[in-house]
Order: sequence, then C-alpha cells, then structure tokens
Amino acid sequence: MNLLIKGGRVIDPSQGIDETMDVLIADGVILELGQGLTAPEGTPTIDASGLLVTPGLIDMHVHLRDPGLEYKEDIATGSRAAAAGGFTSVACMPNTSPVIDNKAVACYVVNKAKSEALVNVFPVGSITKGSKGDSLAEMGDLKEAGCVAVSDDGKPVCNSELMRRALEYAKGVGITVISHSEDLALVGEGVMNEGFVSTELGLKGIPWAAEDIAVAREVYLAEFAAAPVHIAHISTAGSARIIRNAKARGVKVTCETAPHYFTLTDDAVRGYNTNAKMNPPLRGESDVAAMKAALADGTIDAIATDHAPHHPDEKDVEFNVALNGIVGLETSLPLSLKLVEEGVLDLKGLVSVMSCNPAKILGIDRGTLRVGAVGDLTVIDPGKEWQVEADKLESKSKNSPFLGWKMKGKAAYTVVKGQVVYQA
Ligand SMILES: [Zn+2]
Repeated sequence: MNLLIKGGRVIDPSQGIDETMDVLIADGVILELGQGLTAPEGTPTIDASGLLVTPGLIDMHVHLRDPGLEYKEDIATGSRAAAAGGFTSVACMPNTSPVIDNKAVACYVVNKAKSEALVNVFPVGSITKGSKGDSLAEMGDLKEAGCVAVSDDGKPVCNSELMRRALEYAKGVGITVISHSEDLALVGEGVMNEGFVSTELGLKGIPWAAEDIAVAREVYLAEFAAAPVHIAHISTAGSARIIRNAKARGVKVTCETAPHYFTLTDDAVRGYNTNAKMNPPLRGESDVAAMKAALADGTIDAIATDHAPHHPDEKDVEFNVALNGIVGLETSLPLSLKLVEEGVLDLKGLVSVMSCNPAKILGIDRGTLRVGAVGDLTVIDPGKEWQVEADKLESKSKNSPFLGWKMKGKAAYTVVKGQVVYQA
C-alpha cells in the first residue's frame, strides 16, 4: 500500500504536470509529488528514471465474459490482461449470460472482482432488460449496485422513443449512457466494411451509413433531451464529423474509438482473416485518417479497446460465421503510443484519452495523480520493443490481428492502490 516512485517523467494532464519528479503513495493514496522525496525505511521503491509515470490507464470498454461465458475470458484473466496492458481500471460491458440488467448480476461482478481481479472493475449495466430493446432496466438499482454506465453494447436500442426515455431517465439517475450506434437494417447480412475489398473478396458489406445514421440519431436525441450520451467505438469519418459539429453546438456528446480503427484498414480482412472481423468493421484509409484527425482536435474523447475475447472454435471458421471482435487490452498502449510518434497527440493528449477523460465520462474518482487521490498509476517504458505472441498474452483468448507484430512501448509497472499488480 506504500510505494515510492523515483525520478520518472510524470505526466498528469489533470494538473497540467509534465515534469521529472517523485511520487509517494501511502496507504493506497497519493501522499506527495515532488523532487527528492524520501519514504520510511522498508517502503518499496521503483526507479522510474527514463520512464513515464501517468495516472492509471482506464479502458472504458471491455468484455470480461463473466458470468456465463468464462470459456472466453473471466474476471481474473481479463484483469491480468488489463494489468499487463498498463490498465488500472476497466469498465466491463453487460452482454454476459445472464445480462447485467439487475442488481444481483451487477453485485456478482462487483464481488467477484473484489476477490479475484488485479485491477478495478467497474461494471456497465444494460439500458434495457436483457438488452432486448423492449423496456428499460432499473438504472437506479444498477447504479446502486456499482454500475458506472448503462449500455446495450453489442446491439443498438432500435426504438428511438425508448432511447429518448433512457437518456432522460439516466440523466435523472446520474449514470452515463453508452450507445452502440448501428442501423441494423443497413447492416443486413454484412460481415465487413462495404467497399472495394468486400467486392473483391465477395463478402457482404456494411456501409458507413449504418454507423453514421445511428450516431446522428443519438446526437439529436441527446440534444432534444438535453442529456449527455457517449458513443462507443466510432469508426467512420462521418461519425467524427457529426460529433464534432454537435460538440460545437453544445450537445453533450462524447465518444471513443479503438486502436484498431486508427491502425488497420479493411485490407486486413484479405485472406479472410477472421481476426480482422469486428463490429463496427475495419474501414478505409480516409476513415483511419479521420480517426486520427478527430483524436488530434479533441472530437474523440477516449481510446477504448472493445476487448472482445473469443474461443478459437468461434474464430477458426468460415469468415461469414466467425464471431466479431478482437482482444485488445495488451496491445492498446503501444498502438496508442504510436500516435505520439506520428505527432497526432502529445503525451498529455494521450494520457487524457487513456485515463483522465474516461474517468470523467464514467464519473469515477480516477484519472489523476492529485494528492489525496487513489494511488492508481502506470509506469510506462515508451521505448521497450517487444513482439506480440499468442502464448505470452495473459488473456484467455488470443484472437488478435496484431499477433507477430513488433511493438514499441509497454507498461513497466501497473500500480493499483499503491500495490504493484504487474511488473514487466
Ligand atoms: Zn459495441
């Protein structure tokens, strides 16, 4: 619970800090920041010279598959993957079995995390009962049980009237609504981005309009209801443009994208690579450029992985029937650090989208190294070169399009409440 981190480059946008200094954690809480700090004898000490020290990274969109789908991942393995990726907190989506749509299931996740998880696990409850899109779940109960947001992630709330009520009710309860924005009629039987590559491969396409139209609806509903909304995993230039314009008019909309949407295009699907199959699908080059531009100008508030573990039996099959999604917790940091190398974000900007902003959007007391804050932090070795290998991933599932990739940058230490939960 006590820890002294010496001589790291501390980057904390919440306090405007970018400076070489020490951080002292006592009883799991940030006690002091400054030069030449000392601690009582016997206090564990980390030499962070040449390394970055940031508020603990937060992944606000992961699937831990627990309860019910533990053959893909569980809270213990998912939290180990998070810790290895430098994340001190994750928000887990409710599309488990059963769905997190009531107090009992939410409490199960909270309690299991307490006993088994290496990192903080904040459950997300569903917007509608069973995520079926028919009637609202008891948001007040979900919040009371520890849920930090509600979402029917995996599918949209198709009924606009119900979504309006969800936004209004959630505003009253004080819980964040996360929208999975997708027009299912336009998606049809599509399995990848609609474009040149889908035509060449003879696969049914999902047009960008399927996302843009749904994002536009959420923006108008949020404006109409004067309530905030967070859009999950945006992937298209149009979504970014719609959200940028909405923010300019004062609509309370925030959004996230995932590392794969600013790293890969639908070219990765060639060879019918099911590890490049996800929803929304990988898009074209202009969309990748748009994601970077939207990160650079602050339109995109957060980078979240949409960590979606699947068993090999669900991926080593024909492209059309393979399940959507990839694991992302252990590759997010280096892929995001690349944005700094490319000049898209500076380090403060990166820490904002990977820690400060997700904390704000979810309303959790994290994302800062302020004195008195919870002692969650990440020590990053930005120059560490390593290769992604399936058998070295902590996640139970290995469905990553980045297997074999050479990466630069890795968590050296992940610290939760003053305790080192991961050391490279
Ligand atoms: Zn989703």
